[in-house]
Amino acid sequence: MSVTKSEVLIIGGGVMGSAIAYHVARQGRQVLVVERSEEVASAPAASWASAGGVRRQGRHPAEAKLAVEAIERWRTLEEELEAGVQYRRGGNLLLAETDAEAEQLVTFVREQQDLGFTDVRLVDRLEVTALVPGLHAGVVAGSYSPGDGQADPALTTRAFATAAQHLGATYWKGTAVLALLIEGERVIGARTGRGEIQAEQVVLAAGAWSDELAGTVGLRLPIKMVALQMVLSTPAPRQMLQPVLSAVSRALSLKQVNDGSFLIGGGWPGDPTADRRSYMLREESVKGNWEAACELLPLVGQQRIARAWCGLEAQSIDGLPFIGPIMGLDGLTVAFGFSGHGFALAPAVGRAVSEQLIGRAVPELDGLRAGRIESFQQDAVEEFLG
Ligand SMILES: Cc1cc2nc3c(=O)[nH]c(=O)nc-3n(C[C@H](O)[C@H](O)[C@H](O)COP(=O)(O)OP(=O)(O)OC[C@H]3O[C@@H](n4cnc5c(N)ncnc54)[C@H](O)[C@@H]3O)c2cc1C
Repeated sequence: MSVTKSEVLIIGGGVMGSAIAYHVARQGRQVLVVERSEEVASAPAASWASAGGVRRQGRHPAEAKLAVEAIERWRTLEEELEAGVQYRRGGNLLLAETDAEAEQLVTFVREQQDLGFTDVRLVDRLEVTALVPGLHAGVVAGSYSPGDGQADPALTTRAFATAAQHLGATYWKGTAVLALLIEGERVIGARTGRGEIQAEQVVLAAGAWSDELAGTVGLRLPIKMVALQMVLSTPAPRQMLQPVLSAVSRALSLKQVNDGSFLIGGGWPGDPTADRRSYMLREESVKGNWEAACELLPLVGQQRIARAWCGLEAQSIDGLPFIGPIMGLDGLTVAFGFSGHGFALAPAVGRAVSEQLIGRAVPELDGLRAGRIESFQQDAVEEFLG
C-alpha cells in the first residue's frame, strides 16, 4: 500500500482542523488534512450544524484570552480569508426576567469586565427594548456585549479550508482515517482508506469522533458525543433582531440570519444514532426550543418552523476543550471537546495550535491543556461517559 509523507497531518476538516491547517500553511509548512466527508462542514458535524454565535460573554475564564483574540480576528476575517462568512457584529444580549436575575447580572457584568471583555455592560429595560423592540414584558434588564456577533459556520469552515489550500495545504476529502500509527511512544501518522500517511506531527481534530481514533492508540478520552439541536423559522422581514439573544433562566439562543429567518438553539438535546454517524430529533426538544423563543420574542411566533436539525459535538467532562500535546504520545497534538461553544474561538485556536506545533510557548492555552485528561478521577470519567 502507498505511503504519503507530510510534515503535519490534520485529522478532521471541521472549523478547528481547517483553522489550524490555514495557520500552519501560513507558516510555510507542509500540511495534509484528511476529512471523511466529501465536503468540509457536512452533516452531522458540529461545524455544519452550529448556531454560529461569536460571543465572549459567558465564557469560562480559561477561554477568555482566546475569546478576546478571536473577537479581534473576526472583525477582519472576511478580508483575511477573502471570502464572505456572513459575519455581523450585532452584539450579544443576555436577558434577566426577574429582579433576582437582574441582581445576578450585576455580578456577571463585573466578572466579564474582569476577564477583559471591557465593552460588556448592564442595560436596563428601557435600553433593552430600544435594542430589541418587541421583547416580552417580563424582561427587566440585560448584559449587553456590543462587540460580539454571529457568522455562518459552514461558510467560515469552507473559507478557512479554501484559504489553507491557496497557501499550499492539501485536503483529502471523502477519506476516513482508520487508525493512528504508533511507534514506541511516538505517533508517526495514520492509516486511511487511501493508504498510510507518515507525518512529523499529527493533529487530532475529529470533533465528536476523536475518541474513536484516540482509542486506536489506547487513549480513553473524557469526552462524549452529544446531539445538539437547532431550529430555523420561516423568513421574517430582515433586520428585526440585531443582537444574539439568550436569557438567564432559559436554554435559548436566538438570532436572525441574513434571509430573515430566526435561528434558535441553546443546547436542547437530540440523540446520536447507535452508529454515531447521524442523529434523531426529539419532538419535545423542538417544541420546547420553539416555545422558549416565541415567549421571549413574540414576533418569532408569527413564523413557522421551517427546519430542525442536530449536530454531533464532543462534550468534555468539564465543559472545556482539550488543546495541545498529549504526554506519553510524542508527535500527537489534539484539539477537541469544544462542548457546544468552539466556533467563535476557531481563529484563535488555529493560531495558537500552529504556534505550539513549532515549539512556541502559548500561555493562553494553559487552562485548556490536553494534559488535564490524566487529571480526572477514573470513577468520575466512567460516570460521565455513562
Ligand atoms: C447545534 C450546535 C450549535 C452550536 N452553536 C455554537 C455557537 O453559537 N457558538 C460557538 O462558538 N460554538 C457553537 N457550537 C460549537 C461549535 O460549532 C463546535 O465547537 C465546532 O464546530 C467544533 O468544530 P470541530 O472542527 O472540532 O468539529 P467538527 O465540525 O465536528 O469537525 C470534525 C470533523 O472531523 C471529521 N472526522 C471525524 N472522524 C474522522 C475520521 N476518522 N477520518 C477523517 N475525518 C474525520 C468529521 O467528518 C468532521 O468534519 C455549536 C455546536 C452545535 C452542534
